[in-house]
Amino acid sequence: MPDGSESSDELVYKRVLLKLSGEALMGPSEFGIHMPTCLSFAEEIASALKNTGVELCLVIGGGNIFRGLQGAANGMERAQADSMGMLATVMNALAMQSALEQIGVPTRVQSAIPMNTVCEPYIRRRAIRHMEKGRVVIFAAGTGNPYFTTDTGAALRAAEMNCHAMFKGTQVDGVYSADPKLDASAERYDQLGYQEVLARDLRVMDASAVSLMRDTNIPIVVFSLHNKGALQEVLLGKGTSTVIS
Ligand code: UDP
Repeated sequence: MPDGSESSDELVYKRVLLKLSGEALMGPSEFGIHMPTCLSFAEEIASALKNTGVELCLVIGGGNIFRGLQGAANGMERAQADSMGMLATVMNALAMQSALEQIGVPTRVQSAIPMNTVCEPYIRRRAIRHMEKGRVVIFAAGTGNPYFTTDTGAALRAAEMNCHAMFKGTQVDGVYSADPKLDASAERYDQLGYQEVLARDLRVMDASAVSLMRDTNIPIVVFSLHNKGALQEVLLGKGTSTVIS
């Protein structure tokens, strides 16, 4: 550290919900689930759990398999298409469960659409108990309702689980003034206010997710999924991220 003091390595956020988009699971593929990519996320999660003792839950989107809006554009009824989108998130949740359990991380999947032979139904107090016991809880099927997204589902579960932060893993290491892949002069923000994100339409997450985080006073931490060790560093208050609070 610049002043020569030791890093305290203290966990900044004791209980965290990590939101991954479905597309993150595609890895180099153009569609679907790329298991080596799921395994590399699982390894990041496993080492963060081991080294920080964080209580962690996950929400994974479904955009790598099916989006309700796509179905609606192709002539399906929107609510029906959204049910398919929610089922896609269950597939992703099961894939991540498999990746995590392959490397010894205990997990439970809880679905907002009950499917008891496949996973647990969503039960709030049970989910909290799982996390207290060191299990990673993967929340599937978003909010269980059409016309919502998994960003909003993630915000809802983060609030219900009394999380200290919602982590949003993205392709880049924070929120920028423009797309840093297209605009070299794009500026990265260390901190932003919820209102600023909404007013400037910075598109970190859906507006409904951001406003729920604002109302419940839970910070959103945006960081890169592709920097090895980033999850652990950001949990310890180090590394690069944008904190929206
Ligand atoms: N979805 C829904 N209700 C929810 C969450 C998701 O209907 O509470 C459906 C919706 O059709 C959405 C799809 O599931 O398009 C996949 O979720 P999302 O688009 O949020 O996934 P991501 O963009 O994060 O991969």
